[in-house]
Amino acid sequence: MLLEKLREIVWKCNLELPKNGLVKMTSGNVSGRDPETGLVVIKPSGYSFEELTPAHMVVVGPDGRVVEGDLEPSTDTDTHLYVYQNRPDIFGMVHTHSPYASSFAVLGQPIPACLTASAMLGGEIPLGGYAPIGGADIGQEIINKIGRALAIIMQNHGVFTIGSSAQEATKMAIEVEEIAKITHLAMLRGQPILLAPDQVDYMVNLYRNDYGQR
Ligand SMILES: [Zn+2]
Repeated sequence: MLLEKLREIVWKCNLELPKNGLVKMTSGNVSGRDPETGLVVIKPSGYSFEELTPAHMVVVGPDGRVVEGDLEPSTDTDTHLYVYQNRPDIFGMVHTHSPYASSFAVLGQPIPACLTASAMLGGEIPLGGYAPIGGADIGQEIINKIGRALAIIMQNHGVFTIGSSAQEATKMAIEVEEIAKITHLAMLRGQPILLAPDQVDYMVNLYRNDYGQR
């Protein structure tokens, strides 16, 4: 079987989505790109998370052709591939309709940078415009609007996160929902205190250069 290790990683990351309350039923997906071959491992379409095994993951080429796998790849595959094609630095991507973050998508509001944890995602989580699901249009909107952020909320739809690995993108999907939840709760009782741009820059730098184990 091709890319056994990456299949295992992507499978595990997919299981984190229901575990963290980010998805219901079959919606949502994680993919990972192999740096050596450029092949992408992604969740199969319409498969519930509890039925998944590493062998169910579908391996696709950059052109969307299935290279290995008996199942159809996720309907969001073209979106993932468009982003990978245009961001050579990205090797993992996640899509969810996680409820607190998606409520910002419904209101057409970015998630403001009002928590220090926002810096992990690059500050404010930008809003992408409406795009029909399943194609490269969403990918194009993500590329145009995401900037330095590792997450974006797409109007009337949900969340996409990116990272240097499937694990990082998955972590960001969990963080986005947590930040969205806290921000939402705060907005019920008042006006959030926004971080100043220099405060965000300082912390983005800290997270990207000094955080974690050396
Ligand atoms: Zn979706």
